[in-house]
Amino acid sequence: MREASRELIIRGAHVLDPLSGLDEVTDVRLAAGRVAEVGAGLRGARRLDADGLHLFPGFVDVHAHWRTPGREDEETIETGSAAAAAGGFTSVVMMPNTDPIVDKPVIVSGLVRRIENESRVRAHVSVALHEGLRGERLTEMRLLKEAGAFCVSDDGLGTQSAGVLRNGMLYAKTAGLPVILHCEDHTLATGAVHDGVPAALAGIPGSPASAEDAATATALVLATETGAKVHITHVSTALSAGLVGYFKDRADVTADTTPHHLTLTDELVGTLDGMYRVNPPLRPEKHRRDVGEALRGGILDFVATDHAPHSLSEKDLPLEEAAPGFLGHETAFAAIHTELVLKDKLSLSRLIEAMASAPGRWIGGAGTLGVGAPADLALVDLSEEWTVRPEEMVSRSRNSPYLGQKLRGRLVGTVVGGELVYDRIGERVGERV
Ligand SMILES: [Zn+2]
Ligand SMILES: [Zn+2]
Repeated sequence: MREASRELIIRGAHVLDPLSGLDEVTDVRLAAGRVAEVGAGLRGARRLDADGLHLFPGFVDVHAHWRTPGREDEETIETGSAAAAAGGFTSVVMMPNTDPIVDKPVIVSGLVRRIENESRVRAHVSVALHEGLRGERLTEMRLLKEAGAFCVSDDGLGTQSAGVLRNGMLYAKTAGLPVILHCEDHTLATGAVHDGVPAALAGIPGSPASAEDAATATALVLATETGAKVHITHVSTALSAGLVGYFKDRADVTADTTPHHLTLTDELVGTLDGMYRVNPPLRPEKHRRDVGEALRGGILDFVATDHAPHSLSEKDLPLEEAAPGFLGHETAFAAIHTELVLKDKLSLSRLIEAMASAPGRWIGGAGTLGVGAPADLALVDLSEEWTVRPEEMVSRSRNSPYLGQKLRGRLVGTVVGGELVYDRIGERVGERV
């Protein structure tokens, strides 16, 4: 990833940046990889006419599986970061459940070097909380941090025991690393889908919402007691969202939910299609509505995609046998915009806060277009309608739950450090004054 030294003026876009209070048609000057000036009538040699487009701070995704090292047949740093850029994401946190698992300093430093050379967007490395993700021995978090680790997570696995998790939080706190938690209690989460009417009709074993709620409650109680910085990822139930709300002022805690939990329900279980398997599972409409409401009200701080590429052979199976997970980067904005913003369930400004400002604050120094901020931004045509087609996905995998769906709102360009890293309007950059 290179930072652009050349200046660029983006002219005439509707600039929306909740953090700096911008919500108007104006111009933005980028120079030396940063936002240099915002205001009407800016002039310069290199400009991009963005009439009719919206300009947002680049989106931030704290939950992505780029499958490197080990499963480069599904995704690589190159294809994962290209997919992120195609979805307007300019910063991403990579999850550690790779092969080998990211639990040793040498793996972290290797990844950091590869990101430098191969990633189109900014990427941070999260490392395992426990060696081998086995939930037993804690990793050497101090050394991992020195090697470049950004945070710790045993994502994909729930926690084996509260005692083990408590020790992990205490150690992470002394190492100065935030903890991202996937909350599912595996003594309860024994099914492949949500334990509801569609599961019963399909004859597929389900997991109850309590599998998530019990684990979320445990995590929040321990976060309160230990004072660790804890982020609960992919909240999918009404009660878990409520619990986060209760603990918000009592612990150093934040939470996200995903585009799929905001827009899809367990009705899809009726298709019996392995495509729709995901952890935590898609929930009934009431949960979807309440989780959306919690995002709207700020109880859930932001959106993260849990971008989880899988090969066709792992997804083209009955639900019980398929690998859990969806692609997320390329459709996140459009899916939420179509399903929530255009149906008046969420304001556009709150969506940008949830995709840029709030996760940008969480990773630090991202998610705003204020003067002096990194020139990371997303240019979007809110009126463009498009169909999600497998042959057009940028990811190396094809497991999007939105395939065939018509969405409204599409990325036109993504800029990282002043450089266009995703470009559907390259031809509009002219040497004009
Ligand atoms: Zn997870
Ligand atoms: Zn995940």
